[in-house]
Amino acid sequence: MPTLSKRTENFTDSVIRRMTRISNQYGAVNLSQGFPDFEPPRELLDRLAQVTKEDFHQYSITWGAQNFREALAEKQSRLMGRKIDPDGEIVVTCGSTEAMMAAMMTVTNPGDKVIVFSPFYENYGADTILSGAEPIYVPLYPPEFNFNSEELEAAFKQKPKALILCNPSNPCGKVFTYDELKNIADLAEKYDTFVITDEVYEHIVYEPYKHTYFASLPGMWERTISCSSLSKTYSITGWRLGYIIAPRNIIEVAKKVHDFLTVGAAAPLQEAAVTGLRFGDDYYKELQAKYTEKRDLFLRGLDDIGISHTVPQGAYYILLDISEFGYKSDLEFCEVLARDVGVGAVPGSSFFREDVNHLIRLHFAKKNETLYEALNRLENIRKKIVKL
Ligand code: GLN
Repeated sequence: MPTLSKRTENFTDSVIRRMTRISNQYGAVNLSQGFPDFEPPRELLDRLAQVTKEDFHQYSITWGAQNFREALAEKQSRLMGRKIDPDGEIVVTCGSTEAMMAAMMTVTNPGDKVIVFSPFYENYGADTILSGAEPIYVPLYPPEFNFNSEELEAAFKQKPKALILCNPSNPCGKVFTYDELKNIADLAEKYDTFVITDEVYEHIVYEPYKHTYFASLPGMWERTISCSSLSKTYSITGWRLGYIIAPRNIIEVAKKVHDFLTVGAAAPLQEAAVTGLRFGDDYYKELQAKYTEKRDLFLRGLDDIGISHTVPQGAYYILLDISEFGYKSDLEFCEVLARDVGVGAVPGSSFFREDVNHLIRLHFAKKNETLYEALNRLENIRKKIVKL
């Protein structure tokens, strides 16, 4: 038999998605893969029901339905402080997962280097492998997960084609400050590098932190490929609606990459989601308040149990320190946690380039009752998990 492709040789399956399967197997409260267990906004579901009876069952325009792009352009123009052209500066994709992949394939050649901050969302590793690029990792140092500007410049000196910026950041919950973004922007300019953003948690930011769109920094529009999605903002991770916003010359190419990868995102879902894109500011304020309540509830519960953890500034993930249990493998710890305590988590090692195995990631995008149930189970963690 011929051999399979070289590019997939070093691939593992996604540990995040694997942990969902393991959680289901043990009937654990699944706080591993980040998705809500509460309903999306009623208006979206009502519109979806109507859409099934209307004429949206064939392909939409490959780079996104006109209606969707117009609504998105209006919303993002407001937020990004720049008039975005729905026809020339947007590609609608199947989730931000495709947006990131298409962005990577649009700007990199095999062998190109790409800066990735560590810890990082595990897909970026796979994205670089699939596009043949080579990651240069730059550490973010806890507890604030700040980078060292000199280390970052040393990475830029290796002539990367792009830097991947996840802001607010999964899994560490960092919200990059304006000054940090400006530092990255100055280096991107100096070393003539693209910046590919993943801003799917743009609306999940806790006071007093604020999200700054990288593309809105002076001079950065031209070199930024902004990726995001509707998954987290409207609690519709299964709809797989994402997008790329970038200057016309980049979008021209991204449109082709996207077209040949997937042709297009689901037409009826795009149409139904327009309802969400047209929500007023109140919706985003309520979303922020809802997640703030969940974050605080969950952090309080963890403090009562006495497990040390990160305090997210944005996004909905917490890293817990499990050193006291003495496990060499955080993956093994997560399996035991799902089986014996009944809570699903993701091993921290799947996010870190460095040799880190004393952290696990939990998320709190769940109904309060689900979070209380998880906390009840975690109360017994020291009884149920024997220290090694
Ligand atoms: N972004 C979410 C996480 O980190 C879900 C990722 C996914 O499975 N697409 O858990």
